[in-house]
Amino acid sequence: MTRPIRTRIAPSPTGFLHLGTARTALYSWAYARHHGGEFVLRIEDTDVARSTQDAVEQILASMKWLGLDCDEGPVYQMQRLDRYRDVVRQMLAAGTAYHCYCTPQELDEMREAQRARGEKTLYDRRWRPEPGKALPPVPAGVKPVVRFRNPVEGDVSWDDLVKGPITINNREIDDLIIVRPDGVPTYNFCVVVDDWDMRISHVFRGDEHVNNTPWQINIFNALGAPLPLFGHLPVILGDDGQKLSKRRGAVSVTAYQEAGYLPEAMLNYLARLGWSHGDDELFTRQQMVEWFDGSHLSRSPAQWDAAKLAWVNAHYIKQMDDAALARLVSVQLQARGIAGDERLPGICALFKDRCDTTVALAKWAAVFYGDATPSDADRAQHLTDAVRPAVAALAERLAQIPWDKASIAAAIKEVLATHGLKMPALAMPVRVLVMGTPQTPSLDVVLALFSRDVVLTKLRNA
Ligand code: GLU
Repeated sequence: MTRPIRTRIAPSPTGFLHLGTARTALYSWAYARHHGGEFVLRIEDTDVARSTQDAVEQILASMKWLGLDCDEGPVYQMQRLDRYRDVVRQMLAAGTAYHCYCTPQELDEMREAQRARGEKTLYDRRWRPEPGKALPPVPAGVKPVVRFRNPVEGDVSWDDLVKGPITINNREIDDLIIVRPDGVPTYNFCVVVDDWDMRISHVFRGDEHVNNTPWQINIFNALGAPLPLFGHLPVILGDDGQKLSKRRGAVSVTAYQEAGYLPEAMLNYLARLGWSHGDDELFTRQQMVEWFDGSHLSRSPAQWDAAKLAWVNAHYIKQMDDAALARLVSVQLQARGIAGDERLPGICALFKDRCDTTVALAKWAAVFYGDATPSDADRAQHLTDAVRPAVAALAERLAQIPWDKASIAAAIKEVLATHGLKMPALAMPVRVLVMGTPQTPSLDVVLALFSRDVVLTKLRNA
């Protein structure tokens, strides 16, 4: 019998939504959408010391920004403590879990002795009840942990959706602590209860969790719960081949949002980072949903490529409707204390081809709402004494014409002719004076986007 498809993303709110988690969320979401299934968002906040409300809000905001809508959740683990306690009670009663009164010091000694004997350091199961076995006397004043009674024999195997078949011998696996002395259940246990209760059919997650999976499978089995399928995605490496981490640059979705990347571009780029559909590099969210069936996931780590992300983003910026782009740029301008106006869509249309982020686009747009400050070098190079009379003549001509692109173009031509100049000789200094840089789109279009007064002031003050 096939189960309904239900996937989930389960971030821990100890920081912003990491790019790796965003990619996992995307795959989980796309897989659910592809199969007409459901996608669940779960906040794993049992690490009370490190979890913050701020991080929860950032994660939810990033998921929303990326457009990864969930059908259920956010579900908070800390609101499910009663349920975990119930399951622990059932397991203690069924004998699949037991109390262990070892002190940290005893555990240290145990490990040291094992190391001295050259053995693997595993809990020696001294508190594990066995028929006919006498347990140590319960020490006074020690709060016990609860341990899972892991099978001692046989293998744990699963056919990983990404890595293929994986088998671990139970002898390699400890009797895991499922409840800490303070009564808070541990990650590996909560995850199983949650995935069971939430009827998760497919678990995609980072491959740092491969080692947890055997425990989780054993706990599923002990609970008589149906197993989900697991797919462990390889890490994302930074440009330098090391694991992508904060120390090596931006790793949060928020950082890219603030740096002027579009959610469509982030999704497209993240999708390709570990998954392929033929040679396609650019595709829509809808295509991704159509194509993402869980196959063609890469087994080897993907490398973050900032230049490629910029290229993808530039593509989406170029494609984006000018009015929509203007709304984004307007937000960036407001952050700089600039209120945009009706010129903004036109400005976006003119500059979007040369920008790979909306921040870069906002930088260009800002010039139309403030003073451009040309560098001394640009002034010296382009605003020569030889060309000054032509610049002054242009200012006078521009004062008399209707203020539109065609009339401005005609005025420029006239001045070029009377002064015997070629276009660049006049266009460069005018660009430097008006825009603060010699590299701009066509001069007539640029000038038309300014008010006449602003242009005349800038040219006359040269
Ligand atoms: N909370 C875990 C993490 O942030 C996710 C665990 C899982 O997906 O099973 O890595």
